[in-house]
Amino acid sequence: MHESNSIDRSRSKNRWNLGAKEGIDESRIAERLLESILDDENTGVLLLDSGLRIKEASSVVCWILRRKRSQLLNVSLEKAAEEAGVIRLPIDGTLLDGAAFRGRSYSSGTGEKRREWLLDGTPLWEGGNVIGAHVMFRDVTQVLRLEEQIRHSDRLKMIGEVAAGTAHEIRNPLTAIKGFMQLLGKSLADREMHRELDYVKIVASELERINSLVNDILLLSKPKEVKLVATRIGSIIKEMLPMLRNEAVMRGTLLHYESWPEGPVIMADKEMLKQVLLNMGKNAIEAMGTGGVLTIRERRTEVSAMEVAVDIIDTGPGIDREHLDRIFDPFFTTKEQGTGLGLSICRRIVHEMGGTIQVSTGPEGTIFSIILPTLSRSGELGTGLGGALPFDVV
Ligand code: ADP
Ligand code: MG
Repeated sequence: MHESNSIDRSRSKNRWNLGAKEGIDESRIAERLLESILDDENTGVLLLDSGLRIKEASSVVCWILRRKRSQLLNVSLEKAAEEAGVIRLPIDGTLLDGAAFRGRSYSSGTGEKRREWLLDGTPLWEGGNVIGAHVMFRDVTQVLRLEEQIRHSDRLKMIGEVAAGTAHEIRNPLTAIKGFMQLLGKSLADREMHRELDYVKIVASELERINSLVNDILLLSKPKEVKLVATRIGSIIKEMLPMLRNEAVMRGTLLHYESWPEGPVIMADKEMLKQVLLNMGKNAIEAMGTGGVLTIRERRTEVSAMEVAVDIIDTGPGIDREHLDRIFDPFFTTKEQGTGLGLSICRRIVHEMGGTIQVSTGPEGTIFSIILPTLSRSGELGTGLGGALPFDVV
């Protein structure tokens, strides 16, 4: 694969004293090392001569320059880059003046195939002259993605803090307005001013909306302390179901519940988990038109006997690919009247209970799965459970 004019490998014989005792041919080891470096998918190696002609190109460099190695050897770098349509490759003649460079950035490819590189260039000296140079390409795509994620979550944190401060400021005048509206309503009722009374009622219901938004923001930024008790998912769902059924009836949605009566015991904050189920149930109902079917299903998971899952399954249109990464971000909403807070609150609550939320979606509908850790292996505890565990199951 490697031609003898591209790299002088005779030096390696003196430099590495590998395997001499075992009688392994040292040049073969050096050759394998070189091959492995040249085949590496995360690091690229480019060797240039004093005319900036390519003397060696590893597979990464071949991929960037879109040519086979044999097509690149002895071709000038400028020409190879031009032919490949590669612009702004940050390698220039200053290397031949003896100036090394470190950490120059370069992006290759587009869309899903886009990769980010950092380039280090080093002149090669002999007897006071520069006889060539080598350039190393380091793949930093993952690192940059991680940095972007961190920046993103920092931004969200800041938004959350600002929102929490604002929410506090809104709550105080809101309480006063609500109080005076009630008084106003009373005197209007006394004077039988029905039209004006209707206006006041509208104001009151709009105030209620602001109030619940403010409460959501406060919950998101400063969650109440979770109070974990031993319970079964089923009992929480049963308490929450009437509220959801109301919503479903209003929207013409069918509601199914597949329970698991002997399901395992979990540690949960019942009120908070109810809120999670309600939020997700509402989202499902909102996503479907009349005639949709919402199914709430308890089940065991494939992964572990110490987990239980609740699926919230809808027959809606699914979630767009480009939205999927953002649905858990605070304030992300595709609804005119939405707050975009529901799912971020759900995630926070479920995480505090040691669980996770999974989503799978397609044109046939969406499944949100809440996975929670259990106190016992599923199916192992029967009805005699109360006596078997050192706590009450509620
Ligand atoms: P909101 O309901 O106020 O918009 P959420 O945080 O509850 O805020 O949801 C964020 C977004 O996620 C919604 O606006 C919607 O685009 C999307 N979404 C959530 N659940 C579903 C679902 N079951 N089907 C389709 N889209 C959904
Ligand atoms: Mg919602």
